[in-house]
Amino acid sequence: MHYTGTIWRPPYEAESLLLEVTAGCTHHKCKFCTLYDELPFKFRTSPINDIEADLQEAQMFFHSPQRKLENKLLERRENGGCRVFLTGANPFALTFEKLTAVSVLIKKYLPNNQTIGCFSRITDIAPKTDGELKQLHQQGFDGLTIGIETADDTALKFMNKGYSSEDIIKQCKRLDNAGISYNFFYLTGISGAGRGEIGAKATADVCNILHPMLIGANMLTVYTNSELYQEIQHGNWQEESEKEKYEELKVLIKTLNIPVVFAALGASNAIQLQGLLPQDKKRLLSDLSSITDRFSEEELRHYRKTLRHL
Ligand code: SF4
Repeated sequence: MHYTGTIWRPPYEAESLLLEVTAGCTHHKCKFCTLYDELPFKFRTSPINDIEADLQEAQMFFHSPQRKLENKLLERRENGGCRVFLTGANPFALTFEKLTAVSVLIKKYLPNNQTIGCFSRITDIAPKTDGELKQLHQQGFDGLTIGIETADDTALKFMNKGYSSEDIIKQCKRLDNAGISYNFFYLTGISGAGRGEIGAKATADVCNILHPMLIGANMLTVYTNSELYQEIQHGNWQEESEKEKYEELKVLIKTLNIPVVFAALGASNAIQLQGLLPQDKKRLLSDLSSITDRFSEEELRHYRKTLRHL
């Protein structure tokens, strides 16, 4: 398989076939972000043969005796199909025609493929027509992961995310209409010191009128090579304390009133949590309280400081 740089995928895509069709990020401007730093966005057009070669390799794996044995052991159905996750920061930025070409190739080599997922920015949805979104859904695109980070407009603007809370609502409603399901990534701490609660409420209010399947929370970790670090050095922005981040998460969970999976599983979370809302709300809130009762600010801060890479 051909891969470029570090590959990030959501924890729930662990079973998916990771297929590289893009590398890097088209936006590359979020102040806190240090992922894909040295990597300009690219679509593997000229080496479309590489994509085909990867699919041929994957095809051999899916039909290998080892895979058949795994299927048997795990009681997976032989023709149960597979899911493909396109790697890169936002492959959904590709045009409708390019995404279609990719889905045709996937079907050619993996006829039992059921769905295709990838990361998407809110701004990647806007250029596609409603008809194109519906067709993409028919071609298998489903379960997109969108790093909205927050719906706090002040934070979105300061961090250069390139869209507003209104855009989140508008574009996700279009996904709802097209039948394309989606998961959100939330970035705890993005609103800055003293504003965690505001950010959490604003985000829950937006989520409550949409239909994310999952809200995955990551915690802001500021690295010295980020633009945000410079803003902090210049006194333009202040980080939330670790305890404020946990209070922020509590407000998010308390305010959410839709059925959704809540997960805080990535390495940026000192303690991992997962549950189904609304039924696990009480347990999640109590778990969050236990963390802040049990660990001091210094201990939680120590975890963040020693987190060398996300
Ligand atoms: S946070 Fe996402 S959209 Fe923003 S620069 Fe990083 S990879 Fe790109």
